[in-house]
Amino acid sequence: MYKVDHYIGGKTIAATGERTAPIYDPSTGAVQGEVGLASTADVDAAVAVASKAFETWSDTGLMKRVSIMFKFRELLDKHRDELCEHVVKEHGKVWDDAMGELTRGFEIVENACGIPEMLKGEFSQQVGSGIDVYNIRQALGVVCSITPFNFPAMVPLWTIPLAIACGNTFILKPSERDPSCANVMARLFSEAGLPDGVFNVLHGDKVAVDHILQHDGIEAVSFVGSTKVAEYIYHTGAANNKRVQALGGAKNHAIIMPDADIGQAVDAMIGAAFGSAGERCMALSVAVAVGDDVADEMIAKIKDQAENIKVGCGMVAGNEMGPLITKEHCARVKGLISEGESQGAKVVLDGRGYEGPEGKEGGYFCGPTILDKVTKDMSVYTEEIFGPVLVVVRVDNYDEAVQLVQDHEYGNGTCIFTRDGDIARNFTRKIKVGMVGVNVPLPVPLAFHSFGGWKRSIFGDHHMYGPEGVRFWTKIKTVTSRWPTSIMSGANLSFPSSD
Ligand code: NAD
Repeated sequence: MYKVDHYIGGKTIAATGERTAPIYDPSTGAVQGEVGLASTADVDAAVAVASKAFETWSDTGLMKRVSIMFKFRELLDKHRDELCEHVVKEHGKVWDDAMGELTRGFEIVENACGIPEMLKGEFSQQVGSGIDVYNIRQALGVVCSITPFNFPAMVPLWTIPLAIACGNTFILKPSERDPSCANVMARLFSEAGLPDGVFNVLHGDKVAVDHILQHDGIEAVSFVGSTKVAEYIYHTGAANNKRVQALGGAKNHAIIMPDADIGQAVDAMIGAAFGSAGERCMALSVAVAVGDDVADEMIAKIKDQAENIKVGCGMVAGNEMGPLITKEHCARVKGLISEGESQGAKVVLDGRGYEGPEGKEGGYFCGPTILDKVTKDMSVYTEEIFGPVLVVVRVDNYDEAVQLVQDHEYGNGTCIFTRDGDIARNFTRKIKVGMVGVNVPLPVPLAFHSFGGWKRSIFGDHHMYGPEGVRFWTKIKTVTSRWPTSIMSGANLSFPSSD
C-alpha cells in the first residue's frame, strides 16, 4: 500500500482533510494505494503558492524557461520506465501502449522548447506619422488543468509544458484513479530547476474542482473528461469569468468504402478499436460498412484477428490488451453490450464472459467484442461505451455513411478508408468533425498542430496544444507608440486616425 499526496510549492504535502480515495490495481481488483483528496483549504493553499510564484516566473527570461523545459524533457526520458510502470499498474493498459502514450506526451514538451518562436509578436511600423504598433502575448496568471484517467501522463502533458513555458504558474488536478504519474512529473520539474510553486499537483474530486471553478485567483481552466462534466466545467468556469476549454467524449466513426483495401482497413481498425481496451477518446468505436459485401468481408477478418488478441495484465510481456479502469465501468460496458443485443444487434464476438487470466479473476476484464447490424437508435450506437467494443453499422452508399457522422452528437475524430481521391476530398471538406483521417485510423495531431473535436466533444473556443494552445495560455496586448521627436504639437479632440 502506498499513499499519494499533493505536491505544492516544491514539496509533498498531505491533504488536510480526512477524505481519501482507493487506488485499485485494475488487473486484480485489489486496492494497491490511496490518494488524499483536497479540501477547499488545500485548493486555497495551492492557489496562494502559485500566485506568489507567478510574480517572478512570469518575469523570468524566456531562454531560462526554455532551458528548464529542455532539462525536464531529458529527465522524463531518464525516468521513462518509472512513469510507464505507474501508468500500467494504475490504469491497466499494456506496457507498449503506455510507452506510446509517454512518447506522444514528451513530444509536447519538445514542442514547448520552441516557445520563443511561438511567442513572437507582430510589428507594424509607421502606421501613422512616427507611430509603430506591436502585439505581445503575455501569461494569464495561475491556471489549472483537470485531467481524465485514460492518459495519466499524456493528457496532463497536453497542457503543462506550453502553459508553463508561456509564463503561467500551474495547478494540475489529475484523475484520482491513477494519480502517481503527476507526482513524478512534479518531482522531475523540481530537479530540472523549475522554481517552487510554478507547477503544483492537487489531488481530489468534485470538491476540489468546484472550488477551483469559482476561485478568484485562477484565470483559466483546461479540462479533459466526459461530456457531462465538460459541459458543467465550461458553464460554471465561464460564469465565474474564467477562460475555459473543456474537451469531452466521443464516438468515432470509420467509413469503409467498397474500393478500400479491406485488409489494411481491418489491421488499422483492430488497433484503433481494441487498443487500450477502447479507453481512448480517439478510439474507433463505429465501423460504417458501405454495402453488405464490405461488411461481411470486413467482419470476418476483424473477428479472426480480434479473437486472438492477448488479454491480460499490462505488466506481462506479450499481452496486447489490459483490463478496464473500474469494476463499475466494466459492468457498464458489459451492460451496454447486453442492451445492444436485446435491441437487435448481432453479437459476432462476445467479450462479456472473459473474467481475466488465471490468478487475475478479480480484474476488470472484458474481451474484444463486435456487434453487427447496429442501428442509430440503439444505445450502443448513441452512447460512448469506452470499452473494447466495435459496433458495425451497414449502409447502402457514401451519402448515408456521411449522414450518420453528421447526425451524431459527438465530433471528435473520424476516418475514411478509400482509394478514391474525390471521395476523400469531399469527406475531409464536408465532415463536421474536428480530427479527420484518410486511411489513418487514429488521426491524433502531432504537437505542432492542435488537438480538438467539434460538436459536443468540446466546449470552448480553443483546441489543445500547438498554436491553439499558445493562444489559450496567453492574452494579447497591443502597444501603440510614438517617440517625442515625432509628436506634433497641439491638442486635437477628434478621434485619432492614421493621417
Ligand atoms: P470524468 O469526466 O469522469 O473525469 C475527468 C476529471 O473530472 C477527473 O479529474 C475527475 O476527478 C473530475 N470529475 C469527475 N466528475 C466530476 C464532477 N461531477 N464534477 C467535477 N469534476 C469531476 O472522465 P474520465 O472517466 O476520467 O475519463 C474518460 C472520459 O474522458 C471519456 O468520456 C473520454 O472520451 C474523455 N476524454 C476525452 C478526451 C478528448 O480529448 N476529447 C481525451 C481523453 C479522454
